[in-house]
Amino acid sequence: MKTIWLVLPCYNEEQVLPETARQLKEIMTDLMQRGKITRESKIAMVNDGSRDRTWEIIRQLHAEDRIYTGINLSRNRGHQNALLAGLMTAKQYADAAISLDADLQDDVGVIEKFIDEFEAGKDIVYGVRSSRKTDTLFKRFTAEGFYHVMQWLGVDLVFNHADYRLMSKRAMDGLEEFEEVNLFLRGIVPQIGYPTAVVEYERHERFAGESKYPLKKMLAFAFDGISSFSVKPMRMIIHAGALMFLISIAMLIYSVVRKIMGATIVGWTSLMVSIWMVGGIQLLCLGIIGEYIGKIYSETKKRPRYIIESVLNGEDSG
Ligand code: UDP
Ligand code: MG
Repeated sequence: MKTIWLVLPCYNEEQVLPETARQLKEIMTDLMQRGKITRESKIAMVNDGSRDRTWEIIRQLHAEDRIYTGINLSRNRGHQNALLAGLMTAKQYADAAISLDADLQDDVGVIEKFIDEFEAGKDIVYGVRSSRKTDTLFKRFTAEGFYHVMQWLGVDLVFNHADYRLMSKRAMDGLEEFEEVNLFLRGIVPQIGYPTAVVEYERHERFAGESKYPLKKMLAFAFDGISSFSVKPMRMIIHAGALMFLISIAMLIYSVVRKIMGATIVGWTSLMVSIWMVGGIQLLCLGIIGEYIGKIYSETKKRPRYIIESVLNGEDSG
């Protein structure tokens, strides 16, 4: 029998947390009663610097029942960092941890399947969405496009897997070795290795509150994933540069020939077009290079990825 921690990053989730906590407790107590998990198993909620009553709710839950525990971050650090803080805390106590969203979008019905796979010797169990029926057409299109682009760029990703997964203690120890500041967990986790399994589930709609991932954040997250795991964009710049060079040689020959033929006034349009195009491409390339340098900059600073303010452990009220 194993001790399992559920880890939920929570940012302004006061609307969903009481219901989430209730449903998860039901599942966990059922698993305990059937002897699948130990009584030390817990539901750990990481408060990612919420501005609403999230932390108060977590403290209250913890006061009512020790199955709930809370980790309070010193400020908002984003979903990935909050999740990491939760996992690094969980691994001190648990044999395995399952990470899931606080909004119950990840089907909690498959938690038992995760644990079965873990008992069968798997270190990492990926929750994979079987369909995207509940997504808007736009979200489905952008999300699936994202996985395709990532795969094309050579990033090792599990298709349609987000952050719903089980990790054993030793897998989390492995995760700890990855010291990068620009966290993109679903790109890092496949690099840990060990035996893995996949469990399919239906993703539901968020039942209350609103998404904390608006389009702007989604795009930033996607670019983070690409630039943290692939140097292909840089290589593409070199190819584009080489191509531009070839084109410019062709243009040179062309304009010399035109000059010899005595028709030099032509070409204002093409000139304007190419000035703008070349300028645009250069700026774009500079921007991409800048992004990578920015990453190097933040990695070299080695700033902490999160700071834990307090952990609820039953002794005080946090
Ligand atoms: N989250 C977080 N910190 C943030 C943003 C989000 O801890 O800065 C949590 C959030 O509370 C939720 C999970 O990350 O549990 C996923 O966020 P959300 O449901 O808003 O994203 P979506 O499902 O819309 O992609
Ligand atoms: Mg959600």
